[in-house]
Amino acid sequence: LATHFLDRIEKSDLNAFLHVDRALTLAEAAEADARIAAGTATPLTGVPIAHKDIFVTKNWRSTAGSKMLANYVSPFDATVVAKFKAAGMVSLGKLNCDEFAMGSANENSAFGPVKNPWDHKAVPGGSSGGSAAAVAARLAPGVTGTDTGGSIRQPASFCGITGIKPTYGRVSRFGMIAFASSLDQGGPMAQTAEDCALLLSAMAGFDERDSTSLMPEQGGIDEDFSRDLDQPLTGLRIGVPKEYFGEGLAADVAAAVKAALDQYVQLGATLVDISLPNTKLSIPAYYMIAPAEASSNLSRFDGVRFGHRADGYKDLQDMYKKTRAEGFGPEVQRRIMVGTYVLCHGYYDAYYLKAQRIRRLIQQDFEAVLNGPDAVCDVIMGPVAPTVAWDLGSKSDPVANYLADIYTLSTSLAGLPGMSIPCGFGANQRPVGLQIIGNYFAEAKLLNVAHQYQ
Ligand code: GLN
Repeated sequence: LATHFLDRIEKSDLNAFLHVDRALTLAEAAEADARIAAGTATPLTGVPIAHKDIFVTKNWRSTAGSKMLANYVSPFDATVVAKFKAAGMVSLGKLNCDEFAMGSANENSAFGPVKNPWDHKAVPGGSSGGSAAAVAARLAPGVTGTDTGGSIRQPASFCGITGIKPTYGRVSRFGMIAFASSLDQGGPMAQTAEDCALLLSAMAGFDERDSTSLMPEQGGIDEDFSRDLDQPLTGLRIGVPKEYFGEGLAADVAAAVKAALDQYVQLGATLVDISLPNTKLSIPAYYMIAPAEASSNLSRFDGVRFGHRADGYKDLQDMYKKTRAEGFGPEVQRRIMVGTYVLCHGYYDAYYLKAQRIRRLIQQDFEAVLNGPDAVCDVIMGPVAPTVAWDLGSKSDPVANYLADIYTLSTSLAGLPGMSIPCGFGANQRPVGLQIIGNYFAEAKLLNVAHQYQ
């Protein structure tokens, strides 16, 4: 299996992988073989996996898609990487992504864009663009991704694969290079909901090395996420938010999503009209909170501790400045500036604090429809993105990129689980994703609902 995928990766010209090492992979495969022979295998032993280059790995470079970390090798494995290793999975290498996971098209990687396997002129989505492209092109059967504001769901949608962002705190952030810590969440991407369920079961669970990991008493327990895959959907109530079908949604995407909703009705579900009135505020709120946290997280890249250091500086200040100017790309620099600004004394209340208040209102929107005895729906469905994948190089305005995140940001701000499953094709035969959002800890339900879709 490992050789099959390594050969496919070698022949591919998508730029999905940043680091492949045949010898390392084959050594892991040999270990898996030994384990199978010894009778100590798990169901995932010997199955290849590849990691978004946001997860640090002991043997492979960990770049976060940035020149700043171009030659960085971590002294330890991220918890997620270690868990898959412990299950006997075989690593195929590291996957391209937007620099520090900031982006929606994989065009912000210091190592070049990734091509969408369905149409090489199109972006694969981002920031987990390499991950999504690798699965779609059958370069890996399953991969890891991270989602801060849509980075698992949106590339899954653009590449016609399945991806799930779990409830915030389900999957350990230890060893996941930080972007916005209160939003960052790792998750699996694969061809099917069933594969995602198997991967998520191995990936999730309490980790004492991550301070926001959910403790067992908070629900951070090991679960078999495939347990409900075959449950019938009779009586399922699907909330359809009117804000997700308004102005800005392309007709081809709307048609594919509506056809998917019809199929769920055939499967026994009922559609319930709901409203998530603060949806449009998710863009300004997210684009203050995420950069604020990023500006703080990225202060560690100073040329002293790890990564790139500029040559030819006058003094310490000059070394910091040159290192950061050379090491960070334009989008990362923009976010550091925005984040520093909104955290400034004098602006903090007007911007950062206000954004946090809006975040709570967005969370309450979801709570009102999904939570408690007054809940009107079991899951929410809608599009993942307003359009299918756009052409490489066609959307250079950063704000245009931000606006395309409208349907994914609020789930992240609320910390809820969300997933994308393929639901047909739109313009230019580019894939469309259906988004399924659930209450906290409802991953098994989402995977069940996804698995029943034909
Ligand atoms: N597109 C969003 C951003 O640029 C989300 C990225 C993510 O989820 N990592 O921040």
